[in-house]
Amino acid sequence: MSKKKVCILYTGGTIGMVPTEFGYAPKKDYFGVLLSEIHQLQHEDLPSWEVVEFDPLLDSANVAVTEWNAIGEAISARYKEYDGFVVLHGTDTMSYTASALSFMLEGLDKPVVFTGAQIPLCELRSDGRDNLINSIIIAGEGMVREVCIYFAGKLIRANRSTKISSEDLTAFDSPNYPELASVGIDIKYNKNALAMPSRPKTFRLTKFAQTPIGVLKLFPGIQFNLFEPMISSNLRAVVLETFGSGNIPTNNIPLVEGIRKSAENGTIISVCSQCHMGSTILGAYATSNDLVESGAVSCRDMTIEAAIAKLYYLFSCGYDNERIKVLMETNLRGEMEE
Ligand code: ASP
Repeated sequence: MSKKKVCILYTGGTIGMVPTEFGYAPKKDYFGVLLSEIHQLQHEDLPSWEVVEFDPLLDSANVAVTEWNAIGEAISARYKEYDGFVVLHGTDTMSYTASALSFMLEGLDKPVVFTGAQIPLCELRSDGRDNLINSIIIAGEGMVREVCIYFAGKLIRANRSTKISSEDLTAFDSPNYPELASVGIDIKYNKNALAMPSRPKTFRLTKFAQTPIGVLKLFPGIQFNLFEPMISSNLRAVVLETFGSGNIPTNNIPLVEGIRKSAENGTIISVCSQCHMGSTILGAYATSNDLVESGAVSCRDMTIEAAIAKLYYLFSCGYDNERIKVLMETNLRGEMEE
């Protein structure tokens, strides 16, 4: 049987960083040296792999729509050639990029596994080696046919993921959806949690357009008049980080009025929760009624990262506001409960 082929897209991030006078930073043309020191990468049981190094290599704090599109294009251009893909990416915004790719890549029939490290490969205690090797194996095995993140023994759905720790090796969690696989002595896939194979659809890349989207986190005592220009100007959509199941301070008249005006101006108000677990249920409490009356959409159990990525995607598809509102409340890629 011929070996499976995995393409590793190296975009930057801690995994390949080196210390500099300003702190850790990526180093061009150095990743090959780091990989040559990991003997297991030559093991005969590993799929064959090739690395594509991005230029420039980035700390993921600097990754945005342009880079998401570049990753999507890199996968699309090589889609037929490889059995799976590993994307090496900084952890800081990995959940945003991986969520974006989950929408960008439609009809995906192969694994796209994001991973990285909390400690660079050049350091003694790096977690990058295990993350990389397990990700290559998962990408070669072809059991998952969706965009996912592998990190510290857990395989999770990309658009359910969130970075939960800046220092633990277990940097990611999937608070509202079960793990796709757990990796101990064996790799145990959770077959019930994997996305249904998307075979009937053909693979398609939708590149994202720059889109004016805002995110506003509410807090007790918010002086909304100071934020008003932000919400009532030319934003196409706002993700509101609300309390609990989608509640806002309805006794805060400037806030309620601002949201109403903004919705009237055509901004899509998308309601997420500040809670990591559970769902927004508009109408459950009277304190969400103003949102209901403004025609806000409920992001239900979506992460903030997924809600932002999904809005980018839907605007990039060119849909009108009514369609976008319907699709925001429709499960497209396993990002929300049915
Ligand atoms: N600042 C780094 C990045 O996101 C952190 C990491 O990779 O862990 O690129």
